[in-house]
Amino acid sequence: MTLDIQLAGRIDQQSLFHPFTAITDLKADGPTVISSGKGVRITDIHGQEYLDGMAGLWCVNLGYGREEITEAMAEQSRKLSFFHAFNGMSIDVTIECAEALLKRAPVPMARVFFGASGSDANETQAKLVWYYNQLRGKPEKKKLICRWNSYHGSGVLTASMTGLPGMHAPFLLPMGPIVHTDAPYYYRKAPEGMSEREFSRHLARELEALIAREGADTIGAFFAEAVMGAGGLIPPPEGYFEEIVPILRANDILLVMDEVVSGYGRLGTYWGSQTYGLEPDLITSAKGVTSGYFPMSACFISPKVWDVIESNAERAGLFGHGYTYSAHPVGAAAALAALRLIDEDNVLANVQEQSDHLFSSLRARLGDHWAVGDIRGKGLMIGVELVKDRATKEAFPMANRTGRQVLKAAAKRSLITRALGDTLVFAPPLVINRAEVDELVEKFGDAVEAVL
Ligand code: PLP
Repeated sequence: MTLDIQLAGRIDQQSLFHPFTAITDLKADGPTVISSGKGVRITDIHGQEYLDGMAGLWCVNLGYGREEITEAMAEQSRKLSFFHAFNGMSIDVTIECAEALLKRAPVPMARVFFGASGSDANETQAKLVWYYNQLRGKPEKKKLICRWNSYHGSGVLTASMTGLPGMHAPFLLPMGPIVHTDAPYYYRKAPEGMSEREFSRHLARELEALIAREGADTIGAFFAEAVMGAGGLIPPPEGYFEEIVPILRANDILLVMDEVVSGYGRLGTYWGSQTYGLEPDLITSAKGVTSGYFPMSACFISPKVWDVIESNAERAGLFGHGYTYSAHPVGAAAALAALRLIDEDNVLANVQEQSDHLFSSLRARLGDHWAVGDIRGKGLMIGVELVKDRATKEAFPMANRTGRQVLKAAAKRSLITRALGDTLVFAPPLVINRAEVDELVEKFGDAVEAVL
């Protein structure tokens, strides 16, 4: 490598337009430049090591530097570095990968469609919803119900689907087919004294009212993350999906589970759909499918949707959708290696064990802290919401300022976390061990106490 280590930060600022970064923050602090990773740790160009409490961006589930994955990728790359699946072509390793994925689906699924990111996968799902309804003679069923605080991607359609106003202006689709319903954000949105179950019923009534207002015959699908991630780490309140799903079924609305983060073990089950007993019509997955070693997404299509597509194939002609990398052999090799490791490493059992330990240690260390309003999550997807006043839940002024201060204090203690507003989030590699969880909690506790 020829990059001058001392100048790397300056060259970065002169050359890179960073995703999801405030230019002012970057100018003030400069970038942290990472150059290697092993296990749950990453190392910057100056040799400073960090415990990565976020598995990159909720994706490096099996940890960094896994030879089993890098070797599979290298071997595949030497054998066939690229080909595609357009126009009747296919690739041996991609076929093997599709079959392996279908075997692991939470409910019987008929087909897998590959892409390169969670965003493109959710666009594929939206198109599949429209395609399915077009083919069964209901072309007007186009609207997509998404939830406030959801995150579904950064494309023009998926940013509009996302329920974060900061992602909309100035990018919101002007005539978008998207309607938003309330987030299941029990801590912030439930009226005083309302139980989780009652709040779930309340959200279900809101959804029914929305469907009645818009007209069920104009609505194609409901998109949901199992646990909301980027929108503030929000697990569903008790009974939420039990209340919502019958309403979707009664109104002929497809359930699309966005499992880009929750898929492949993060919640302690293979799929979030299993955690919440769901039978989705479509499932979006990405990130953990290759443990972040290769950009890849996989959309699962249920027999209900596929049967309509297949039985109308002659009339429909060519499926006019696909990406250059919709069957990438190196991605397929990475995924096959990652899927094997999820089984061999006993990842699901480890997530359950370390999740219990992380929750109980965070509660023991910070549960009584004056600024800790809520500690919530599922599996290894955990958020700590900081507030100015625990009793009233009053937020700190200037959302995200306190969160960022804690994030920086954690980084000083060589711990990577993420601030979603003033909710600090942990989604470490799923192979994290007990000692590393202890280290994470100690460093985070020190960071919170240093700032607040
Ligand atoms: N869906 C969810 C639930 C996500 O968390 C993300 C990214 O974090 C996406 C979709 C978009 O994935 P990508 O960034 O790979 O496009």
